[in-house]
Amino acid sequence: MDFALDETSEQIRDLARDFATNELAPRMAEIDDAHAHPWDIFKQLGELGFYGIIFPEEAGGLGLDFLTYAIVLEEIATGCFNTGLMMGVHTMSTHATYTWGSKELSEKYVPQCMAGEKLFAFALSEPDYGSDAAGIKTRAVKKDGGYVINGTKAWITFGEAADYFLVMATVDPELKSKGITAFIVEKGWDGLSFGEPEKKMGGNGLITSQVILEDVFVPEENRVGDEGVGLKIALGALDGGRIGIAANATGVMRRAFDESLKYAKERIQFGREIIRFQSMQFKFADMAAKIEASSLLTKKAAWLKGKGLPCTKEASIAKLISTDFANEVCSEAVQVMGAYGYMQDYPVERLLRYIKCTQIFEGTNEIQRIVIAKHFM
Ligand SMILES: Cc1cc2nc3c(=O)[nH]c(=O)nc-3n(C[C@H](O)[C@H](O)[C@H](O)COP(=O)(O)OP(=O)(O)OC[C@H]3O[C@@H](n4cnc5c(N)ncnc54)[C@H](O)[C@@H]3O)c2cc1C
Repeated sequence: MDFALDETSEQIRDLARDFATNELAPRMAEIDDAHAHPWDIFKQLGELGFYGIIFPEEAGGLGLDFLTYAIVLEEIATGCFNTGLMMGVHTMSTHATYTWGSKELSEKYVPQCMAGEKLFAFALSEPDYGSDAAGIKTRAVKKDGGYVINGTKAWITFGEAADYFLVMATVDPELKSKGITAFIVEKGWDGLSFGEPEKKMGGNGLITSQVILEDVFVPEENRVGDEGVGLKIALGALDGGRIGIAANATGVMRRAFDESLKYAKERIQFGREIIRFQSMQFKFADMAAKIEASSLLTKKAAWLKGKGLPCTKEASIAKLISTDFANEVCSEAVQVMGAYGYMQDYPVERLLRYIKCTQIFEGTNEIQRIVIAKHFM
């Protein structure tokens, strides 16, 4: 296993680092407070080629590996967690279409998404079916050369900002998981509407809302893969998605570490900088260890995925450990900064409010433990 990057991958990592430092980090609060999709940033990432990292050159991508993608995502999240999440979800839906969709479907939707011209959401969860994704009730009924879809999807990242939705629906509830099928639905189609943007604890630079399908007609050619393989597509996409969340969490931890360390080197109490107290140094030692462990676990899962090797367990381990550690690190960063850390004038309270959701979406951390346990049962 080798995490060394070649020259091209190093260049794109450096580009991401510069972009995160110079363009994203100064705007993290502004983006988060906007309660609207950050379209300018979304398009800039497309222009930089970041959505095309894992796509082959013949498909218009950069032809790089999943390890490079995870490393770039970590850099981006260090500058702005909303942007990191945006890149992860958008790439996940686009790549699932490329992997599982027909050639025609791929040629129609993938290039615009890679270029950052169109935004692609992932719609699996429902109000009554979150962890129990195999139970989803959104129904697709075959009719007139296509399918009529009815159902409600819940907590969908991007909400009405998205142009395209990768929607999971069942063609036959009796078949349970074997009836779940994936479809691409476009904004603007009759019968598609949206709930009000959810009021969230954090991560407010991206809209989250219900996506409501009422008699939405989807042509047969917009089915992604065969009937019945939708859950396989969703879970396969989530292997990559979870590595993306792990990278996102690692980036957020690095930001929390940097912000609180800078403060600890300046804050004077009892006549000395607080970093000179050994108990403070131990906090930073623990934080550094958690960041390093998370980054390495994420790279291991990403390396396996890039080689086309099984990585479901490793993706879950990376997601579980990185997001649990990130919650601890962000909380410690606030603690280091005392009352200032709790105030909105400093960035760390924002990191702490955001990071909680990384333990919930793309499979809660309890579900990650179930996935991991299956490998030794
Ligand atoms: C900010 C945000 C963005 C999201 N974006 C998207 C999106 O873009 N697309 C999408 O499809 N979904 C999205 N989701 C939904 C997310 O994937 C679900 O919230 C998640 O899968 C958990 O489902 P749930 O909230 O219904 O919790 P539930 O499944 O009801 O779980 C509640 C609690 O019970 C636990 N639990 C459930 N089953 C078990 C079990 N078998 N064993 C042990 N514990 C269990 C869970 O771990 C959790 O602690 C998003 C959620 C959030 C918060």
